[in-house]
Amino acid sequence: MKIVFDKVGQTKKPFSLSVSNVSLEGTLAKSGYHRLKLEGNLDGILELHCDRCGEAYHYDMKSPLNLTLSDEVIETEDDLDIIEFIDGVIDLEFIVQSEIASVQNAYHYCKKCEESEEELEFEF
Ligand SMILES: [Zn+2]
Repeated sequence: MKIVFDKVGQTKKPFSLSVSNVSLEGTLAKSGYHRLKLEGNLDGILELHCDRCGEAYHYDMKSPLNLTLSDEVIETEDDLDIIEFIDGVIDLEFIVQSEIASVQNAYHYCKKCEESEEELEFEF
């Protein structure tokens, strides 16, 4: 789902989409010059592989997602939650995919390993 940056006004524009079993519902509104505010909620099930035992398990992905979107290059690094869309087109699928990727790329343990996490710490 793509939204033209300039078409978003100050009135919150609702959207919803889903990418690989994860849905994102929320609103977009202009929050400043070259800035849009995205407020939404991610909801879905991801299949992950435990980084400890390799078992596949399902991860319940439910979290609020608040981002600032910009159509220009951000020179300051104080706001890490800014995503740039230099061509002026917001790609909402890309946003959901990056959120999924950040969960997949982070260290994650299945329930069994999480419970034995204390033992794990002794291994180091
Ligand atoms: Zn495990």
